[in-house]
Amino acid sequence: MRLGCIADDLTGASDLALMLAREGLRTIQTIGVPREDLDLSGADAVVVALKSRTIAPQQAIEQSLAAATALRKAGASHLFFKYCSTFDSTDEGNIGPVTEALLAFTGSDFTLACPAFPANGRTIYKGHLFVNGVPLHESSMKDHPLTPMRDSNLVRVLQRQTKLSVGLVAYEDVEAGPDAIRSAFARERAAGHQVVIVDAVSDAHLRSIGAAAADLPLITGGSGVAMGLPAAYRQGGTSSVAPSSGGFDAPQGRQIILAGSCSSATQGQVKAAIDAGVPALRLDPMELASGDTTAQTALDWLADQQTSGPVLIYSTSTPDDVQAVQGKLGRMNAGEIVENALADIARALPGLGFTRIIVAGGETSGAVVNALEVQALTIGPEIDPGVPWTRSLGGTDLALALKSGNFGAPDFFLKAWTMLR
Ligand code: ADP
Repeated sequence: MRLGCIADDLTGASDLALMLAREGLRTIQTIGVPREDLDLSGADAVVVALKSRTIAPQQAIEQSLAAATALRKAGASHLFFKYCSTFDSTDEGNIGPVTEALLAFTGSDFTLACPAFPANGRTIYKGHLFVNGVPLHESSMKDHPLTPMRDSNLVRVLQRQTKLSVGLVAYEDVEAGPDAIRSAFARERAAGHQVVIVDAVSDAHLRSIGAAAADLPLITGGSGVAMGLPAAYRQGGTSSVAPSSGGFDAPQGRQIILAGSCSSATQGQVKAAIDAGVPALRLDPMELASGDTTAQTALDWLADQQTSGPVLIYSTSTPDDVQAVQGKLGRMNAGEIVENALADIARALPGLGFTRIIVAGGETSGAVVNALEVQALTIGPEIDPGVPWTRSLGGTDLALALKSGNFGAPDFFLKAWTMLR
């Protein structure tokens, strides 16, 4: 394995895993620090999903070092610390403290910090982070409930979080390409800096930075800065991989969609599936709350379905219905009732022969993955932007597509299956 990655949250981990897979690395994502018996051989990159963004710095350090140790044991020669492209953190941490700890872990004295992701509107110029063209401290991030960002100068922000001396590699050097960036790294290092913020306003910049940074023992940043790494590894001859092809090997078995998202994209996808004749069962939160409907009701329905195509179980409702239900049950309680029902259904799916599963909804996906006791996922081809097919590792063999509610085209629930072999 070339690259061991530590991500400070679950969706950030998927974002990075997909970026690496799309650029040609065989990538595995683990849910938490991987257990020793999990087979990670055959991966070029492993992304460990932590939940360490807003926990106490000392805890974040401990979890990140545990992940780094597991990745090193599994053969990772280089480490990547992934955080949000809006540099989500408080003045107490955790980007600075974790970077410090991981740098010490690798025995190195120099790294970079580059959250830029121009395709998503995150650019860095002269060390200042912009979100869709607006300085970070004027963007909606200034009011974030957990990590309000009130300073767009990342050199200052990071310096407040760390004893490491923070420098800057600015636009002119980045624009001049990988050799100029390498020279700038050497210049900043000679000036006594151990970590540098690096400007980037385009994908070309990210690819140049990737080429210049590929040999550093530790890289830190958003998923954007990983864009150039696979190509750099191929050029350096340290990886034989080619960009991934379309099809994806999946276990044979029945196909099911579990939709717990009420986002507008999911509403359209549920409607398109029903219109196309996919057998569908709607879960009503009020009936679940009263006990008139249970997970067993859905399992009995599933047992009756004869189709060789996919079936759909959904709680997806219009905003008005959701509001009415939340008024009666309470927002959190309504969510939990539906999540628990879908989790109970999911737990029984392998026993009923379902091995190909699409889940719609971020929270819903978390509940389903936990219920299925999935430890890790290999990342396959992208179905629609931001949503790959994945295959579970370490437990029951499953093909899973975990779709954030608002992602995907209207025909997502219909076309996704055609990518499975
Ligand atoms: P998204 O990715 O679209 O935000 P999530 O799964 O993260 O989807 O969140 C949707 C939440 O709404 C979940 O907690 C789910 O249990 C809950 N939910 C699903 N259907 C209903 C419904 N009909 N009424 C109220 N809450 C619902």
